[in-house]
Amino acid sequence: MPDLPTRVAGRHFLQIPGPTPVPDRIQRAMHSAVIDHRGPEFQALARRVLSGIKAIFKTSGPVIIFPASGTAAWEAALVNTLSPGDRVLMYETGHFAALWHKMALKLGLAPTYITSDWRSGADPEAIETALRADSEHKIKAVCVVHNETSTGALSRIDEIRKAIDAARHPALFFVDTISSLGSAEYQHEAWGVDVTVAGSQKGLMLPPGLSFNAVSPKAIAASKSARLPRSYLGWDEMLAANEKGFFPYTPATTLLYGLDAAIAMLQEEGLDNVFARHQRHAEATRRAVTAWGLDILCRDPKYYSPILTGVITPEGHDADVLRKTALESFDISLGMGLGKVAGRVFRIGHLGDTNDLTIIGALAGVEMSLRLAGVPHQAGGVDAAMGWLAECRERRLKLAAE
Ligand SMILES: *Cc1c(COP(=O)(O)O)cnc(C)c1O
Repeated sequence: MPDLPTRVAGRHFLQIPGPTPVPDRIQRAMHSAVIDHRGPEFQALARRVLSGIKAIFKTSGPVIIFPASGTAAWEAALVNTLSPGDRVLMYETGHFAALWHKMALKLGLAPTYITSDWRSGADPEAIETALRADSEHKIKAVCVVHNETSTGALSRIDEIRKAIDAARHPALFFVDTISSLGSAEYQHEAWGVDVTVAGSQKGLMLPPGLSFNAVSPKAIAASKSARLPRSYLGWDEMLAANEKGFFPYTPATTLLYGLDAAIAMLQEEGLDNVFARHQRHAEATRRAVTAWGLDILCRDPKYYSPILTGVITPEGHDADVLRKTALESFDISLGMGLGKVAGRVFRIGHLGDTNDLTIIGALAGVEMSLRLAGVPHQAGGVDAAMGWLAECRERRLKLAAE
């Protein structure tokens, strides 16, 4: 007789940096009958989400929603605004930046690539230097990943905007916020971003399947003369249909119901509170990692990610063995090392619908797994995290009493 899997009690701990656990309220919102996507009920839903999502990007301009994963929104940013052979400046923060670079090459663009050791955020000075060197303004766009999900480094988009301005360079500015939208402070309009790329399955707490382009007037103007071929991902037909509350093809209706609920939940908690919660859980995680005596992949505290923490395992200890131990012993999924840090790094996601006890439970799972997998470490990581979270709570209670 084949081995039947035994039931595992309780909820799985999906502690990877996306997809993230979908809250019950969003799950229920998606459990709706599919409706006519050309009828008035859909039109009301589309108008509500197309308008509500703007506040999440902090923009007054249009946000385009594709029924596709985040990767399609990367492609849409490039093909709608650029022409074959155009030069683009890209910054290698980690694996996701490397994939965007690879896509640019496949699309026939000519990227100038600033490489790095994957242990920090994008350096505004290096970007300024590269732009100043381009006196003929051949570079048409600067592409940066806001939160590099493969490493746990959050780049300073406001500072990069200043660097582009300081170089007096007219390039478009594209930012990937696939894992940071709804989990870290982000301002599409105030930071002068031309295309913001995002996805549904990380900070927005939805299943995978939706992706976004928030677009500036300058990006829309560029799209009128851009010559890269595009069809499904073309902005023009999408914007024209969205004006009337519709889509040029069948939208992912049930995911849009979920998005409606996600926007409401983020607003009810308050975006600033959501971001502060992510910072608290990130600090709790870093305190645990430090107490264990392990190294955080991001070496510069200025770029520490509020979204996930990449942890380096000691030489000779495979991070994937640790992850396997954690999954088999405690039903917790941890993020694997991607690309050039495969096997050397595991990632603890602390984004989305996470509370103090979820993160403590996750850290307890890691601490016990370190022991079971024989990874050298000191005990006391969870204690350090609990101390920090209790301290934060005390501080907030004191503030509220004043
Ligand atoms: C997840 C992620 C991607 C890839 O998105 P898909 O939805 O898997 O296509 C790209 N960039 C970043 C920063 C991500 O976190």
